Amino acid sequence: MSAQPTTPSTTASSTVTPPPGDDPVLAIEGLTKHYAVGARREQLIALDGVSLSVQRGRTTALVGESGSGKSTLARCLTGLVQPTSGTVLLNGEKISGLGAVAMSRIYRDVQMVFQDPNSSLNPRRSVQQTVAEPLKRHLNTPAKQRRERVRELLHLVGLDDRHLDRLPHELSGGQRQRVGIARAIAVEPQVLVLDEPTSSLDVSVRGQVLDLLLELQQRMGMTYVFISHDLHAVRRVADRVSVMYLGAVVEEGPATTVLTAPAHPYTRALMSAAPVPEYGIQRQRLRLRGEIPSPIGLRRECRLAGRCPMVRDSCRTAQPPLTAIGPHHTSACPVTAPSASAA
Ligand code: ADP
Ligand code: MG
Repeated sequence: MSAQPTTPSTTASSTVTPPPGDDPVLAIEGLTKHYAVGARREQLIALDGVSLSVQRGRTTALVGESGSGKSTLARCLTGLVQPTSGTVLLNGEKISGLGAVAMSRIYRDVQMVFQDPNSSLNPRRSVQQTVAEPLKRHLNTPAKQRRERVRELLHLVGLDDRHLDRLPHELSGGQRQRVGIARAIAVEPQVLVLDEPTSSLDVSVRGQVLDLLLELQQRMGMTYVFISHDLHAVRRVADRVSVMYLGAVVEEGPATTVLTAPAHPYTRALMSAAPVPEYGIQRQRLRLRGEIPSPIGLRRECRLAGRCPMVRDSCRTAQPPLTAIGPHHTSACPVTAPSASAA
């Protein structure tokens, strides 16, 4: 892990408006993660004040271009990365910034499925050993019961006894990801953080893995934080969508609203680049200039100012905060907010 600078956050953006009847299993408040990079130890701001409420038993999707901070957020939630500042609460209890012992107890409840099962599975460990490992570590399950439980778990994820003694290279990509899922659900976590769980798979297998995830969620009542740049996958699984750009959430709301009537120019550009045909024609397409800029250094203007075709002078002077623009729907763009045109 890189050195962590102690500089305080530049912006603690956003206020969170929880949806009705919201029972957050995770509450993320003003989370920042800074890295010191290069010979000059420049400050790279991977997360810049993210606040988010994750509803119990539902799926919150995180979308955004590569480099927007999605994986860093996922790793802060699962304890793989310590945030620079801000807090993560699980059922109201602070879980960020704890010591190793407390963390291992708590992080049983928040498990992760990685993008690439090739690199997340130990090539020398059989399926049995891989899936049994969290049972041993977190629950101290005796060996005989572990073997039984692993068989049950394999059946749950659509594999069977024939796979028990296989090594990762003896499995297909889809089977490997099923093993990754079995390992993650072995200790019955409350939250499963899925970082691009289907993007390394063949298109033909993606749908099957999504079906499996939906079925497991129904059966076990788990909460998902689902990271993907595949908007079709997001449409299938997400209840809420948070759109991230350069370390911040720029729009957040119900999945159908964000996917059919995106408000923030960044979300509109994402949808224009990959329209979801099932939702019909998106309103007016929007194209951004250039590439995502470097996350090194402080940013005092709107994160999107340099790329946005709707940029105004006011966008250059401050970073707009997330503001309510509809029922349980927030956006960090005053230019496109409904009140801007009404005023
Ligand atoms: P995403 O998952 O949305 O593609 P990441 O969270 O992986 O984004 O990365 C966000 C930014 O943080 C990127 O600019 C990335 O290069 C940087 N970053 C991530 N991890 C590290 C690290 N360990 N050291 C330095 N920079 C990092
Ligand atoms: Mg990532």
